[in-house]
Amino acid sequence: MVPVVAMSMIVAAGPVAAQSAQAVQKAPEPGVQVRKPTLLLVPESMVNQTAAQQYVQLKQQASAARRLLGPDAPQARRVRAIAQRLIPQGVRFNEKARAWAWEVNVIDAPTVNAFCMPGGKIVVFTGIMDKLQLSDDELAAIVGHEIGHALLEHGRARMSETVLKNAGINLASAYFGLSHAGSTALASAAQLAVTLPYSRSHETDSDLVGIELAARAGYDPRAAVNVWKKMGAVSGGQPPQILSTHPAHGTRIRDLEAAMPQVMPLYEKARKG
Ligand SMILES: [Zn+2]
Repeated sequence: MVPVVAMSMIVAAGPVAAQSAQAVQKAPEPGVQVRKPTLLLVPESMVNQTAAQQYVQLKQQASAARRLLGPDAPQARRVRAIAQRLIPQGVRFNEKARAWAWEVNVIDAPTVNAFCMPGGKIVVFTGIMDKLQLSDDELAAIVGHEIGHALLEHGRARMSETVLKNAGINLASAYFGLSHAGSTALASAAQLAVTLPYSRSHETDSDLVGIELAARAGYDPRAAVNVWKKMGAVSGGQPPQILSTHPAHGTRIRDLEAAMPQVMPLYEKARKG
C-alpha cells in the first residue's frame, strides 16, 4: 500500500468533524505514488540482521584487499555527503527507516555497480563514478534509486520468495524459529537478494522513489534520465554489472520523463529552501 494512503487512513480513523475539516484544507501531498510488496513473510529484523552480517563480511574482504576507501578519501566523502541528504527524505516511504543503522561505503574497484542492502547498507564502487563520469545530480539519482529498493523492502520480498521457493509454504514457518538449516537457507537467500535481478515493477518503483528523494534533497531529478542513457552508452562490449541486477526496460526513460512533473515542484522548492 502507498504510504500516503496509509497516512490518510489514519487521519480518517479520527473524529469525523476533524476528518472533513482536514479533507477541505489539505491539498494532495506532492510526490510519486509507489507500491509496496505484499509477500513479506521473513521478518524485517531478520532480513536486516542477515544483510548487516553480509555487509560486515563485504567490508572485511574489501579492507583486506586494500579496496575499502577510508572516511576521508574524496570519493567516500562525496558519496557520503550525497547519501546524507537523501536518507532523511526516505521516511515518507518507510517510517521504519528512521531507526536503521545506515552505512555508506565506497569500494575502489572498476565494477560499474552500486547497491543498498536491506536496513540501509550502501555500497558504491568507484567504477560507476569514474566510468560514467557522474555529476553529483547523477550520483544522487543512482544512490536514490538504490535507497528506494531498501525503503520499499524489495530485498525482503525477494528473500521471502526465495525461502518459499526453497522450502515450500508449509515449511516457511520453520525459518522464523531459525533452526540451523533455516539460518543457512536464509543467508543464501540474502546473498541472492543482492545478486538476483529486480523485477520490472521493483525497478519502476525504485526509479520513482529515487527521483523524489533526489528532488527533495535539492538534486536535479532530471539527471536520472541521463544516468540510464549513459549506462546504455558505456556498455560497449560488456554491459555494466549494475544492469544485471537492475535490468533496463524499454520504457524506463520514458517513465522517468513522465514522472518529472510530480517531482520538479519538490526540486524547485528545495532549491529555494
Ligand atoms: Zn534497481
